Amino acid sequence: MRAISLLFHDVYLDDPSESGFVSAAANRYKLTVADFDAQLAGVAAVHPEPPILAGSLEPGDAQDVATDTTSFAITVDDGGESYYTTVADRLERRGWRGHCFVTTDFIGGRGFLSRSQIRELAERGHVIGSHSASHPARFNRLPFPRIAAEWGRSRAALEDILGQRVDVASVPGGSYSSVVARAACDAGIRVVFTSEPVTRVGTSSGCVLVGRFTIRRGDANDLARRLVSPASGARACAWASWNAKGLVRPVLGRSYTSIADWLLATGPSDRVSQP
Ligand SMILES: [Zn+2]
Repeated sequence: MRAISLLFHDVYLDDPSESGFVSAAANRYKLTVADFDAQLAGVAAVHPEPPILAGSLEPGDAQDVATDTTSFAITVDDGGESYYTTVADRLERRGWRGHCFVTTDFIGGRGFLSRSQIRELAERGHVIGSHSASHPARFNRLPFPRIAAEWGRSRAALEDILGQRVDVASVPGGSYSSVVARAACDAGIRVVFTSEPVTRVGTSSGCVLVGRFTIRRGDANDLARRLVSPASGARACAWASWNAKGLVRPVLGRSYTSIADWLLATGPSDRVSQP
């Protein structure tokens, strides 16, 4: 099947530092409440039906074009408190539920979801998943045992809170590789959301792989609507942009890595990280 998964981060009332990781890089992904509302309204204008959840995502090519164009999903990364204070209510008003991906080492920290909030969100029908334990930079460059430990520790923390199986995850920083998927699968994760802007639901190492389309601060307020529309030029643009970045990396080599390191460098807050 194909699915159009949207990737959001924190939503804030007055200040991006209210929720989630705090850095210039992280803040670029956060939306104001007004912008988030506008994006959701745009999606609802195209899709009055609720978004799908991870449990109904199956790999393979869809035979039915109608299925392709009616399936969308809402995902929110990082585990910032705004999922509880802002996002969940807004989804539920429409009868929708989303995926809340939690960076588990930060649970209970300032600006992050607490254990009781995570439990309540699950009870309200939201899918709670792992976004790694510590949100390492360049996750896919870590040695396999560290990647595996991140998935395993994070999943165990969520299962301890929820008392139920947790088998959905999203890749921190979009740092995906087939090794990341293998480690996730070994840790008991069944569905892995990446940040690659594709709609085809695939597989790797026995895991279901689902791409996502990111919505950032400064994007047009109708971007989500255009992304979930049939025959979307916005999806093609997102894919072209993603691939263009892939071409830049080998050319710049070490200097690109250094720039990335600088952008992600630890700042004055202990909540600094990449989104
Ligand atoms: Zn993240």
